[in-house]
Amino acid sequence: MDLMLIDSHCHLDFPELAKKRPETLMHMVENEVAYALCVGVNLRHAQRVLDISAQHPNIFAAIGVHPLEQEFFDFERLAILAKTEKVVAIGETGLDYYRTSVPVQDQQARLRAHIHLARDLGKPLIIHCREAGEDTIAILQEEKADEVGGVFHCFTDSLKTAEKALALNFFISFSGIITFANAENVREVARHIPLEKILIETDSPYLSPLPHRGKTNEPAYVKHVAEKLAEIRGLSLEEVALQTTQNFFHLFKEARLWKLSS
Ligand SMILES: [Zn+2]
Ligand SMILES: [Zn+2]
Repeated sequence: MDLMLIDSHCHLDFPELAKKRPETLMHMVENEVAYALCVGVNLRHAQRVLDISAQHPNIFAAIGVHPLEQEFFDFERLAILAKTEKVVAIGETGLDYYRTSVPVQDQQARLRAHIHLARDLGKPLIIHCREAGEDTIAILQEEKADEVGGVFHCFTDSLKTAEKALALNFFISFSGIITFANAENVREVARHIPLEKILIETDSPYLSPLPHRGKTNEPAYVKHVAEKLAEIRGLSLEEVALQTTQNFFHLFKEARLWKLSS
């Protein structure tokens, strides 16, 4: 059986990957990575994300403002861009208390605005959560984010936070971090939550998994994340690929409709 892997979170619009897009897309094909979700981090460059998804049938888009983004938060513009074809999710948004270059109050207000928009449009959320599990869960609860669900991307929080996220209709996505020697706590979460709730991602160009650590990451390397997850769960790569791909299309329903219609 052929494999079909999906990178559920990457930044093909960032300069490191933009300058070598043809190779990057070719490497995806060579590694059986059929689709990737290109996630926006600000509105200044959001058009790049939309252009990439418009140009390449196997790239989907998400539009949002990263919690640490410094630009003026233009909600009207976010709402307009989010209605573009192939935008299958709202984000990335969330809370990052590891670096608070954007004040916590502003991060929280923006997260709430993203949730409102996601509920308005019926699109799932892509949540960036770093050292802010409790507040993120509380805000998702208060704003009824479970109506649309979404994913906690690049998960590094506790099993307790993961379980609360699952209860709120969210998936958990693991990045190359699960291959790092010092990430036993993240592997512990990956071992315990239902496979039906797991997505895989690269967060490229950052966080290259082993054996590429230190080099520019790219969507093709999501295969290493899948291999590690298979090892952790005692499953075959095929089983992990099949289930995580199914999970992706289950969460991002507009991606599934696009795939069926094209
Ligand atoms: Zn992030
Ligand atoms: Zn990201």
